[in-house]
Amino acid sequence: MLKEKSRTTWIIAIGLFVVLTIIIGSMSKFVQNVTHEEAIAVEINSEQIETGIRIDKESKSADTFTSYTMIPSTSIEAIDLPIFDWVQEQEDKFYKEMHETKEHLDENFVAHFNLDTSMHKIVDNVYTVEMKIDQAVEQSKEYVSMKTFVIDLNQEKIIQPTDIFDENKFTAKDRFQLIVKQLDEKVKYDEWEEALEDLNEIEFTLHEDEFTFYFNDKQLRKDNKALEVNIPIVHLVDYFEEDYYNIFVTDEIIAELEQLKIEEEQERQDAIENHKYIALTFDDGPEVGSTERILDTLDKYDAKATFFMLSRNVEQNPEIAKRVADEGHEIANHTITHADLNAVNSDRIRQEMTDSLAKIEQTTGIKPTLFRPPYGSKNDLVESIAQETDQAVIMWSIDTYDWKHRNASTTFTTVKNYVRPGSIILMHDIHQTTADALPQIMEYLHNEGYEFVTVSELLPYIEGEGIGPYFGS
Ligand code: ZN
Repeated sequence: MLKEKSRTTWIIAIGLFVVLTIIIGSMSKFVQNVTHEEAIAVEINSEQIETGIRIDKESKSADTFTSYTMIPSTSIEAIDLPIFDWVQEQEDKFYKEMHETKEHLDENFVAHFNLDTSMHKIVDNVYTVEMKIDQAVEQSKEYVSMKTFVIDLNQEKIIQPTDIFDENKFTAKDRFQLIVKQLDEKVKYDEWEEALEDLNEIEFTLHEDEFTFYFNDKQLRKDNKALEVNIPIVHLVDYFEEDYYNIFVTDEIIAELEQLKIEEEQERQDAIENHKYIALTFDDGPEVGSTERILDTLDKYDAKATFFMLSRNVEQNPEIAKRVADEGHEIANHTITHADLNAVNSDRIRQEMTDSLAKIEQTTGIKPTLFRPPYGSKNDLVESIAQETDQAVIMWSIDTYDWKHRNASTTFTTVKNYVRPGSIILMHDIHQTTADALPQIMEYLHNEGYEFVTVSELLPYIEGEGIGPYFGS
């Protein structure tokens, strides 16, 4: 009997303990929440900004922090919920960080959290929403983050970038090229690759005839905030999905586009008239001695050339291949083994054109975008593999036959007799006689006013002319 009783007492005692633990636990959680967010003053008001959209403004202030938020609200759950979730997440992060830094703070410091929203109408019922958070939990911890949404009140949903842009046409490389054009400084694709990889992860808004893209990645941020890159719609016309093409590409944009084309053509003509651009190309290297001598001569004239390398030789002479790249010359692909691509099977063609690409990139850090088939031998498969792997097939307009006659003065006279602005000159950096001829060639061309550019730089100027081979004519 006594035993029974004491067991019951124990069960009750344990039960009570468990219940109390739960109550105290949830109470302390409650208390913590209150101390986090307890504000001395709270002010809330709503403003109808367009039919179907209002902005809810809330300001809170306490001894330790102030908070001001502007949140758009449409009464459409599929739109409001993702926006609200994002705001909630940012606010939670702020309170958490504030709590964590509390102990070592100057007692006069007041943390702040400001969320600003601005909206721009694309067409009736479609808006871009730009939300910027400016926050500080410590003096040294000012931080600005942001998020954009495109909302469609008719379709009652948030529009994804892939709804607007055709993912197959608007590739990461295209995005990079467009951005490079807008930036003043030189940038490397490596640093941008991650930020540009997923189209749907890219933040953007639209103001009038310009898209603004925002990059919030650590290495891309400027002055503590997302880097903003403005790209006019005229530069984006090729990339829209059909529905949005009709929205964005108005008659005005089409007129602007035509004007732009005329200006570009004019610039091209001016450049052709005012500059005598040519591209020197060196195939089959890199080779010890001759390639190095050629680099020394080019350097004297501050000239850039294009080297179509065999990856077999790149592996043999990695230091020389790297030097070519480091000195700013264009690195291009000329297969692994110098195979005649018209004489081997399709697997071999693919291997010669793509494995070489990877090997060259591994050694020089540069992925070639130009391909020259050995002996100029090419066929439909070569063309299609080149297209698949983003390599332009480049021939030549002047063949010096340096590989055949191995005579420095013949190499020089061939160049002298046939050169004209826009020429792509074919030589081979594996021959000492070519290295011997180069100082005389450079001196002559330099005195004639030629400017030495890489093949990629030359291509826009000779567009429409075809790129050989003309075998010396
Ligand atoms: Zn070759």
